Amino acid sequence: MSQNGNFDVLVIGSGASGLAAAVSAERSGARVALATKGSIQSCNSAKAQGGIQAAFAADDSPEQHAQDIWRSSHETADMRLVEVLTSEAPSAIHWLEELGVEFTKENGGYRLARCGGASAKRLLQVGDRTGHAITVALRDAAEAGGITLFAKSPLASLEQREHGWRARVGEHSLDASTVILAAGGRCYAEAEQRGELSTNHPGATGEVTRIALDAGAEARDLDALQYHPNGGAWPETMQGYSIPETTRAYGAVLLNADGEEFTDSLGPRDVVAQAIVDEVAKGKGVETADGRPAVYLDTTRISEHDAELSLPYMLRRYRAGGIDPLTEKILTYPVLHYQNGGLVIDADAETTLEGVYACGEIAGGTHGRNRMMGNSLLECVVFGRRAGKAAATKARA
Ligand SMILES: Cc1cc2nc3c(=O)[nH]c(=O)nc-3n(C[C@H](O)[C@H](O)[C@H](O)COP(=O)(O)OP(=O)(O)OC[C@H]3O[C@@H](n4cnc5c(N)ncnc54)[C@H](O)[C@@H]3O)c2cc1C
Repeated sequence: MSQNGNFDVLVIGSGASGLAAAVSAERSGARVALATKGSIQSCNSAKAQGGIQAAFAADDSPEQHAQDIWRSSHETADMRLVEVLTSEAPSAIHWLEELGVEFTKENGGYRLARCGGASAKRLLQVGDRTGHAITVALRDAAEAGGITLFAKSPLASLEQREHGWRARVGEHSLDASTVILAAGGRCYAEAEQRGELSTNHPGATGEVTRIALDAGAEARDLDALQYHPNGGAWPETMQGYSIPETTRAYGAVLLNADGEEFTDSLGPRDVVAQAIVDEVAKGKGVETADGRPAVYLDTTRISEHDAELSLPYMLRRYRAGGIDPLTEKILTYPVLHYQNGGLVIDADAETTLEGVYACGEIAGGTHGRNRMMGNSLLECVVFGRRAGKAAATKARA
């Protein structure tokens, strides 16, 4: 049944960024609606495995985290956003813990892994289902509050009104003083167009970015799409699966057909992905049983202890497909994964359209043209919270 409504804040999307924004706006006193394309559970965030970055180690700091992002982005990231991201990372983690996320611990502290491009161990994990744990906690918080949820209600249009915005979401027409766009990236649609595999959820199709651009919003680096270096190449059931980067953090290395290490397995994502493509082009790759290009990821170097604590889901998936990654090497090739760029935002996540905010993968600048792993979930929480608070404040001013 179609419904009209009037809210302070309307959030579009139910991934980690949209949920964090909605919870934060509601806790700031706003009347909040959240509309999403499919079920409330469907999003990329829940598929995230590896982890979330925050500088907790004794030999680490938010400044060091920021410098790693600057280097990995090839000096293209917006450092105003990066400084917010890295300095608020520890408090974002504590907020998630208050909502019920239980990060894996060892020796009295967080179990931290070093991810590609990082100068210290900085990746917190919940086993290898970190995104699932974070979205469950955020969803519980959203559902426990007074947020009005519209599932199966994709945003189709956004129109400026005298006192805010009117959105058509599915069959509903909703008015809101401020709007938060948290609809993720477009890699599923992009991979379909290119005839390639993608790690993404079918909802990652990018039309909300298009709607914002048509309304006059500015974007940056939209052409910079990221390949995950380690897509699953074989068995067939694992094609398009993103093998967590934590496999490499815990000792797995990339090998060519001759068993030689041809790149630093913990280099920045774009460098590692390109090295694999180049190695295959040189004729030093291997072929999957269905004729796809691949190289080896030697996962037999991971200790059973590390695998059981930090890679249990990956192990289960491969073993169900008839391969034990702890006793045999697995086959991998880069796969379309992430939209690095997006809508231009300021430090409060406001776009160049007044009263329209953007957070998560739909926004650009935080990662420049090349994201480090573990910074996307972090961006969702840090800028989701900021967007929620700022949108609520502006709506009630
Ligand atoms: C397999 C995989 C593993 C990953 N691992 C990690 C990791 O370990 N660490 C890390 O930091 N990052 C990781 N990432 C990246 C990270 O998970 C995502 O970039 C991030 O979670 C995106 O969150 P989001 O809230 O911006 O978007 P999403 O989680 O994609 O949510 C977008 C939401 O918007 C909805 N939507 C889309 N279009 C519309 C519309 N027209 N109207 C209404 N709603 C709409 C979708 O249905 C969805 O609910 C991974 C990604 C994938 C795919």
